[in-house]
Amino acid sequence: MPPTPLATPLLAALRQVLGEGGPVPLHEPEFRGNEWAYVKECLDTGWVSSVGKYVDEFERRIAELTGARHAVAVVNGTAALHVALHVAGVRAGDEVLVPALTFVGTANAIAHCGAVPHFVDSCDATLGVDPQRLAAHLQAATRGTPEGPVNAATGRRIAAVLPMHAFGHPVDLDGLLEVSARFGIPVVEDAAESLGSTYRGRHTGTFGLLGVLSFNGNKIVTTGGGGAIVTDDAALAREAKHLTTTAKLAHRWEFVHDEVAWNYRLPNINAALGCAQLERLPDMLDRKRRLAESYRRAFEAVAGLSFVGEPAGCRSNYWLNAVRLERPGMAERDALLAAANDAGFHCRPAWTLLHKLPMYADCPRADLSAALAIEASLVNLPSSARHADAKGGRP
Ligand SMILES: *Cc1c(COP(=O)(O)O)cnc(C)c1O
Repeated sequence: MPPTPLATPLLAALRQVLGEGGPVPLHEPEFRGNEWAYVKECLDTGWVSSVGKYVDEFERRIAELTGARHAVAVVNGTAALHVALHVAGVRAGDEVLVPALTFVGTANAIAHCGAVPHFVDSCDATLGVDPQRLAAHLQAATRGTPEGPVNAATGRRIAAVLPMHAFGHPVDLDGLLEVSARFGIPVVEDAAESLGSTYRGRHTGTFGLLGVLSFNGNKIVTTGGGGAIVTDDAALAREAKHLTTTAKLAHRWEFVHDEVAWNYRLPNINAALGCAQLERLPDMLDRKRRLAESYRRAFEAVAGLSFVGEPAGCRSNYWLNAVRLERPGMAERDALLAAANDAGFHCRPAWTLLHKLPMYADCPRADLSAALAIEASLVNLPSSARHADAKGGRP
């Protein structure tokens, strides 16, 4: 790996914010509240599985926190996306518009519906779907039919658009909703990374027909593994709950199920962990913001690297902080990653663009030049909230 002159200022900035000491992971979970007490109660009472008071309480708290009318808790974020797409009407043989720059789970959920990811470009300012480029692509590549737009090249229906709020930064939702309405394509939001992030004061995940959250171990708060679907639509929420609980009809002893469904319900023991974690979210968000501010200041003076700040009109949860090379280049990016990891700072790149993965190589796609530039320039930085209080965390 050839060295890069930017490695020295990168390491200096990381040390300024994080201090020297030992290996620094990218993102660690934190259990400082009622986690032990709530999980112990599940063990003491035997309510550990798919029924129990914490699941309902967790759903109530997610609805309250996001402002969505309904929340359905499920086993993980990918399962939540799968069911959200299904109840939004995505079926086998459809296409779903999705950024190439996202975690593989976003596209896997589309494939699990028997549908095909159709990759679209990202926006430099938000790192998420670019509504202007999306509209231009739809104009050029689709034709309108009574059932909605159809990909002119493949003949497949475009059933939904699945934006993702990357690293916690909200996408341009006003622009996206306008394009979605103009072309008649429903929006399902992948808000897996953006719990606590708002767009013009409203929580991400509540702008589309449905939104999805993840509580995986590396997210801002965790249930071990977990996810949720949020929506204002009572019928969709009921269908999502039904389909994630084996479509069982309520009865005191009979097992009657009225369709093929999934066993995707979040267990009570995970929900107990989640209730305790949600109590800690405001403090978590406050410290994440202070850490981001420390990084912003540390990189202000570094020529060639820019800190990724929240888009205008948004409040980001700063789940993962990032810097970008002002001149994108895979070799230089990889040299920075090598230098940081050699020094014990667990930095990582953005995801390999999904159209480069073998199972998605033949999927339809728009021009992806902005996403390619982001991929070749972005480096995520260690982002655990505890670093807000470390050396350099505050003057
Ligand atoms: C974490 C994540 C998911 C869901 O992941 P699970 O591990 O299944 O909870 C989906 N999309 C994105 C963008 C994510 O970061």
